[in-house]
Amino acid sequence: MRIRAQIAMVMNLDKCIGCHTCSIPCKHVWTTRPGAEYMWFNNVETKPGVGYPRRWEDQNVYRGGWVADRQELHLRAGGRVEKLLKIFHNPDLPAIDEYYSPWTYDYEKLISSPLRSQQPAARPVSAITGERTEITWGPSWEDDLAGVNTTGLEDVNFKDLDAKAYLQFKDVFMFYLPRICEHCLNPACVGSCPSGALYKREEDGIVLVDQERCRGWRYCVSGCPYKKVYFNWKAGRSEKCLFCYPRVESGLPTLCAQSCVGRIRYIGPVLYDADRIMDAASVADDQGVYEAQLAILLNPHEPAVVDAARSQGLPENFLTAAQASPVYKLAVEWKVAFPPHPEFRTLPMVWYVPPLSPMVQWDEKRESCADVLDSMRIPVKYLANLLTAGDEAPLRAGLKRLMALRDYMRSVRVENRADAAALEAVGLSESAAQEMYRLLALAKYADRYVIPTTSREGSEDLHNARGCFGFSEP
Ligand code: SF4
Ligand code: SF4
Repeated sequence: MRIRAQIAMVMNLDKCIGCHTCSIPCKHVWTTRPGAEYMWFNNVETKPGVGYPRRWEDQNVYRGGWVADRQELHLRAGGRVEKLLKIFHNPDLPAIDEYYSPWTYDYEKLISSPLRSQQPAARPVSAITGERTEITWGPSWEDDLAGVNTTGLEDVNFKDLDAKAYLQFKDVFMFYLPRICEHCLNPACVGSCPSGALYKREEDGIVLVDQERCRGWRYCVSGCPYKKVYFNWKAGRSEKCLFCYPRVESGLPTLCAQSCVGRIRYIGPVLYDADRIMDAASVADDQGVYEAQLAILLNPHEPAVVDAARSQGLPENFLTAAQASPVYKLAVEWKVAFPPHPEFRTLPMVWYVPPLSPMVQWDEKRESCADVLDSMRIPVKYLANLLTAGDEAPLRAGLKRLMALRDYMRSVRVENRADAAALEAVGLSESAAQEMYRLLALAKYADRYVIPTTSREGSEDLHNARGCFGFSEP
């Protein structure tokens, strides 16, 4: 057992209000340099929809992530030899129009226009060429379902569902999906880089690009199935979400989490067994990857894990933080958070609590809320395609737990009696339900973000490491 710590995140989709506040500080701090205009390390998509870049989830288009063949793991786009043969032409890259062509406005016209009978207008100009441009796509183009009656048909999460029927006005559903890099345990971006420029930090699992080593081959861009590595066309290098590591090292949450209006984000370390990553990522069945990933996340309260972690030199503050980690509770203990598209086999570490939704039909005779999952406006199958490779069983179990919590809290708050019947049906104790309620509904800053400060002094010579990562231009 080789114990490693990973700083991970859970987002509660039930509470995301789609305000995009999280994207703004991230954009201002990390991607305002020339060549980075089109990058959004954090973006918020409306589901259903094809997202940013267009159709990022469709690996028939971009061939990202890993595939398992007879218990062996391969990059879907091919190994080193195949990459070297195509090194000057990577056919799996999204073009700039799939993200969007960044634009600004010709504001100068507003103040320098001569006197005319009509008011001057600031027309959009390309931020790349400086020429007039037409705006035809953007990172939030489908915001609040705009145009989804056409784009939604290409949403892969409608697999085994009648997309046309669900995109009719009276049956359509909607929720928001904020996205950052997943800081995967088995990152395809790292595996795809011919220059070895991408790496996963040993102390906290954050995945970074070494700007000195990057040669701009862009295989990381196509290799990442979540499309969370971007190519800076000015610097000629790749850039990606860095989980705000300078903040995290000091015990502070990422900017997207700190600014989140809906308080949907939770950050904390989880411990995992690095020796079993390959086993988990290469299980034969796509639907088995979620359970396999869950199995390599270690219980930080178990004496054997604690002893092994200590003997392997895991800093004490990481161990304590892992024991109080809200991510561990939501993802492993209560199993109400799930990884997006586990079938990509990168073992992502930013998980989601699936959203509950209004009942289309309300059954007065229902035994408990858990009985009406199929009446929810968002089809369970759609959520399962997004979060559990189409396997409805674990997702239904998670949703039932959340519904049971609602039933229980309703009995406490509205009926003034604690009716634990719904909890018993899903295997939750009253104390666990109270704790879950506090974490999901009321949690304060210190409960949502349990982040140990980094002890890097033992692992690396910081003086020599200066300037090896981060970005090349201010
Ligand atoms: S989500 Fe992040 S860590 Fe995972 S493959 Fe993509 S860029 Fe790499
Ligand atoms: S700030 Fe929070 S609530 Fe607003 S869009 Fe981002 S994740 Fe959702």
